[in-house]
Amino acid sequence: MSEHLADAYDVTSEASASPDAQTASLPSGTLIGAWVIEAEIGAGSMGQVYRARHQRLGRHVALKVLRDELLDNADLVERFLQEGRAVNQINHEHIVEVHDYFEERDPRRVYCVMEYLQGQSLAQRLAHHASSIESIRSMARQMASALGASHAAGVVHRDLKPDNIFLVTRGDRDDWVKVLDFGVAKCVEPLNGQPLVQTVQGAVMGTPRYMAPEQVSGLDVDARTDVYALGNILYELIAGQPPFDGASFGQLAAAIIKDPLPPLPTHTARQEPVPADLAALIAACLAKAPEDRPGSMAVVEAALAAEAAPILLTRVRRRPRVGGMGLVAAALALALVFALRPDAATAVAVPQVVAIAPPEEVTLWIETQPAGAIVSRGDSGEPLGTTPLEVKLLRDPSTLPLRIELAGYAPLERQVSKESSQRLELNLQELRKTTTRTSGGLLSGVRDPY
Ligand code: ADP
Ligand code: MG
Repeated sequence: MSEHLADAYDVTSEASASPDAQTASLPSGTLIGAWVIEAEIGAGSMGQVYRARHQRLGRHVALKVLRDELLDNADLVERFLQEGRAVNQINHEHIVEVHDYFEERDPRRVYCVMEYLQGQSLAQRLAHHASSIESIRSMARQMASALGASHAAGVVHRDLKPDNIFLVTRGDRDDWVKVLDFGVAKCVEPLNGQPLVQTVQGAVMGTPRYMAPEQVSGLDVDARTDVYALGNILYELIAGQPPFDGASFGQLAAAIIKDPLPPLPTHTARQEPVPADLAALIAACLAKAPEDRPGSMAVVEAALAAEAAPILLTRVRRRPRVGGMGLVAAALALALVFALRPDAATAVAVPQVVAIAPPEEVTLWIETQPAGAIVSRGDSGEPLGTTPLEVKLLRDPSTLPLRIELAGYAPLERQVSKESSQRLELNLQELRKTTTRTSGGLLSGVRDPY
């Protein structure tokens, strides 16, 4: 996939910021509360990140500013604010610390104050530097440990990707992991009976290139969705690119759901042989069906720690339910290597993260003739999946605007009620043959639904 398309996906899926929308950078010297802006140090789909200094104390922080064009979207503002609540509950050395949130009026802006990290994102690292196997294992252990803690607190990250992993320079090492950006995290276990995080049920959230099959399908996600994403990151660290690609969201989603995992290279870019136990663990994390993946981050961590004493665990897999998963299943069915210490199963507390069904859920079935159309939210542009599609929504009195698109067919827009379950059956009108739509055109439709 071209960089351009990759960017378009990121923008679309994470926060639906229109690529044309401009959020002016804050010039250095701007005073925001007690913080003086020094420099822009990063940007994601939700916001721009600045290094800022406390006006009187001199302490540095990272200040994330929600993009102006997202301020009118109450869902996205809530997602921005939820990050701190989620992260504070986890409190882990490999998760970025969030100190505060505040909002300013006139002009209205929402800010998140975080610990300032020095180093680079894993995305930057991947672009310039091939990592050693030792460093990949170390980063993997740190990520697994952070996410294990997150899952134990009932929070699934859902958007793990190299941009959201930061590598801090400490002493002579430059691979101290901090997991960032819990902006689309989902709380799957209420703490003290109170949900930590509220998000739109059934909405596809994350970044398509790093999404798990259940995620691109708009199905429930749980801890194993993050296990898949971790597998994706490790695959990219070894192979230099994630396993699946596509010229459009639909093609990419289809590849993630159906295509067998392309085998990892036998050697890294540094010509180090890829250890069999690591390759097998990555393949296991990338299993299509969540139940075929390591069941928790604790299992992944134990597998990574057990390189010296690997044992084979043979898993016999039942026949795949979904066509297209067969090849991967067959590869895994022979013998799946979990480098799991004999004592690990008992020594490691495996957090059970179970997706809880929202109390009042309605189901929306969308079918189109022909099938394969991309359905996205008309308000935020977030893709929900491809038809035929089942979307779970929280019951409420509002309506959900939908946009349905298929290359070569006229796009449709529909408002659907969220008060009761319903089935939408739509006939798409073929565009006249002279009206050609490129895949870029299709994507731009997704990126900017209006
Ligand atoms: P978004 O929610 O908009 O995706 P992120 O939290 O992912 O924003 O941050 C975007 C980028 O900003 C990151 O990829 C990273 O390079 C940089 N960044 C984010 N948080 C920090 C921080 N605390 N310290 C230093 N850089 C950061
Ligand atoms: Mg991000």
